[in-house]
Amino acid sequence: MSERPLTLFNSYTRELETFAPLDPKNVRIYSCGPTVYNYAHLGNLRAYLFVDTLRRALMWKGYGLTHVMNITDVGHLTDDADDGEDKMERAAEREKKTVWDIAAHYTQAFERDLGRLNVPDPSVWCRATDHIQEMIDFARDIEAGGYTYALDDGLYFDTAKVPDYGHLGRLDLEGLEAGARVEGPGGKRHPSDFAVWRRSPGDKQRLMEWHSPWGVGAPGWHLECSVMSIKYLGRRFDIHTGGIDHRQVHHCNEIAQNQAYTRSGETGARMWMHNEFLVVREQKMAKSAGGFLTLQTVVDRGIHPLAYRLFALTASYRSQLEFSWEALAGARAQLRRLLLRIAELKAKAGEAEWMTTVAEAKFSRGAALDYLREAVEGPLSEAGRTWVDKLDAAVSDDLATPRALADLGELVETKALPPEERLRLVATYDLVLGLNLLHLEAKDLALKPAGATITEAEIAAAIEKRTAARQAKDFATSDALRDELLAQGVALMDGKEGTTWEWAPLVEAEVG
Ligand code: AMP
Ligand code: ZN
Repeated sequence: MSERPLTLFNSYTRELETFAPLDPKNVRIYSCGPTVYNYAHLGNLRAYLFVDTLRRALMWKGYGLTHVMNITDVGHLTDDADDGEDKMERAAEREKKTVWDIAAHYTQAFERDLGRLNVPDPSVWCRATDHIQEMIDFARDIEAGGYTYALDDGLYFDTAKVPDYGHLGRLDLEGLEAGARVEGPGGKRHPSDFAVWRRSPGDKQRLMEWHSPWGVGAPGWHLECSVMSIKYLGRRFDIHTGGIDHRQVHHCNEIAQNQAYTRSGETGARMWMHNEFLVVREQKMAKSAGGFLTLQTVVDRGIHPLAYRLFALTASYRSQLEFSWEALAGARAQLRRLLLRIAELKAKAGEAEWMTTVAEAKFSRGAALDYLREAVEGPLSEAGRTWVDKLDAAVSDDLATPRALADLGELVETKALPPEERLRLVATYDLVLGLNLLHLEAKDLALKPAGATITEAEIAAAIEKRTAARQAKDFATSDALRDELLAQGVALMDGKEGTTWEWAPLVEAEVG
């Protein structure tokens, strides 16, 4: 769209780099998808909102995309570095279901969450369990290349065999060696070595297991991402994404496997991009910790999922973001203000054909954003184009969404542009922000909180009582009644035609 280059932070070099695709018509991206043993928590969803922003930024810059995302339905242990139990099997035991039912249930829930957050599907979804034979073939190949060794419990990758193992995570290998206990016979050669194939224990059948040259067992978690990224994107592709935790173990191991498989220093992706954590009271939100927050928790409190999307966009993907209900309610209020302002603009501008185009496409899953862009930008004045330029500057600056949001806030207020042009620009910003700004209405944000037990008759009675108090100038009572209703999820609005009400979030001070 413009001559301005797209700058992105590459974790591999730890530098901001000008993005230069291998093939400008088709930028290839791989994202580590969820391990489907539980619902995605809000932190996980932050990772996929980051990926969606990245995709939108690339489309904004006019690139075509192939985006591959995996579903981990086998092999991920409770510790990323090969210790603990299989997360899927533990969930099956916990919920007394088959592993397959667990995977199907949580995959579906994940896809639903993405839909609610206005995150379109990737070009390819791929499941680890659909690629077992390919993983075995890959493992045989790197075994033949001399990169692995067998132990009683499986096939291990020898991390000393590849150049610069752990560079991505800036791992201190000597420190690791020194810190590790001296392993007995049968132990790993180096602390950083990892399982490529884990053999099932002789006395216990695993819930998910397959025959392999190394005995009946299951693939190591890292193997799937090497195999599926190479299968769908080739040995060299543009960008690999994941949360910041993957920089230390999972992605270092993927790189090592790729180097072994290609018998070269080939790392797979040219750029590795990682989102920082969503934290709660300075602690990473984690699936295994229990009590984590899901998107459904947010909806149950009466907060629209897109308020969470806006909340996530208020921080750079490279900064930690502190979750609190107050902050989320603040994002909801910010979204509401935007929507009210946009409704005013719509009322003034009237319907235009481009709005229908946008409405029909609804930025829905798989909609081509570049096609929409033309419909949205249309003929802009010179002043209008400076707003597009501001957006481009923010996007190009390592996906500076907080800046784009701030600019959008100013844009809706600026009197310098006619309403229709402002609306066009709002829709243009939304191509990147994905907040559904032209279709969502402020009233759509008023979700009934799951915990709200008050009946409509009770609300009407309380409003009547409050009106009487106001007429008697008893403002203490009237304010108390308003606060009581709010604590029950009911917000009052006093207008010319009297008092109306709307469901409002039930936000408690405590997270949990
Ligand atoms: P998992 O389903 O546990 O494999 O994680 C899915 C994605 O979420 C991975 O890219 C993780 O790195 C990322 N992730 C996990 N916890 C958080 C968090 N608290 N904040 C942001 N991203 C996270
Ligand atoms: Zn992965």
